[in-house]
Amino acid sequence: LVIPDFASFCRDISSMFTETLKNEKGKVADYIPQLARVNPDQFALSICTVDGQRYSLGDSGVNFCLQSSCKPINYCLALEELGEKKVHRHVGREPSGQSFNELTLNAQGIPHNPMINAGAMMACSLIDRENNIADRFDKVNKTWKALCGGKDVSFNNAVYLSERQTADRNFALAYFMREKNAFPEKTNLTETLEFYFQCCSIESCTYDLSVAAATLANAGTNPLTGDVIFQSSTVQNCLSLMLSCGMYDFSGEFAFKIGLPAKSGVSGALLLVIPNLMGISIWSPRLDPLGNSVRGVEFCERLVERFSFHQYDSL
Ligand code: GLN
Repeated sequence: LVIPDFASFCRDISSMFTETLKNEKGKVADYIPQLARVNPDQFALSICTVDGQRYSLGDSGVNFCLQSSCKPINYCLALEELGEKKVHRHVGREPSGQSFNELTLNAQGIPHNPMINAGAMMACSLIDRENNIADRFDKVNKTWKALCGGKDVSFNNAVYLSERQTADRNFALAYFMREKNAFPEKTNLTETLEFYFQCCSIESCTYDLSVAAATLANAGTNPLTGDVIFQSSTVQNCLSLMLSCGMYDFSGEFAFKIGLPAKSGVSGALLLVIPNLMGISIWSPRLDPLGNSVRGVEFCERLVERFSFHQYDSL
């Protein structure tokens, strides 16, 4: 067992959760009404170890939309299909140092990395591009299902419609990329954007998403089903970018303090990966000014204070 005394580990997790629950700072994302209406007090946390031990607390069965936490998986799908070289002809791997929807591209005229909006839309344009859009979405959906251990994920159509309606910035980014010839040939811009909004609107709960995080911690093999979802080289690339770019403009600070790959989303979602040990899914809707879940970040801070999980704690 990777965590020999799991019961005592869970007791510690539980007391950190209770402490973190007291934090009511931040505010829910309100750029679309569907996110603004979510009960901000909710807090969920689930753990799945690479050998399948599980623990959940709070609202761990409540669904929320993935939003930006869909980005690492879309990047993995593009990598698996096209390989590192081809994918990185269209998207960089450098932190942007700017917010996730900043109207900016790198010096080559491509997005800085796949963890910000421009790069995530680019990843969408690369996934299964010879196929029709319905099958392409199916592929993403099925991948999440497999990552979560076989349970279907949901789709929030109201979130999707609302995202599409208020997408001026994302359209601006896409046109900017098209102007720079950043997309592969014959990319349908509207279809690509809609595909991206659909991926953001996929829903699941921390109970299931912790298995997805654990699959990343386990180098791409689902610890519960034994299914190989991604090659280890794909996961290695993905985790590298989650570490350097996964927490918006807080990524450097997070890498410094927490020292673990993570990805947040404006729904208050946070995927945390402790390589070779466990995946953690956290959700609490109140966000800090940079767009990360306030309680999500606080819990991570408490976690590495208590346990030597920071990548360089072993030094
Ligand atoms: N749907 C959001 C957007 O494209 C997702 C961004 C996020 O979670 N930061 O703006």
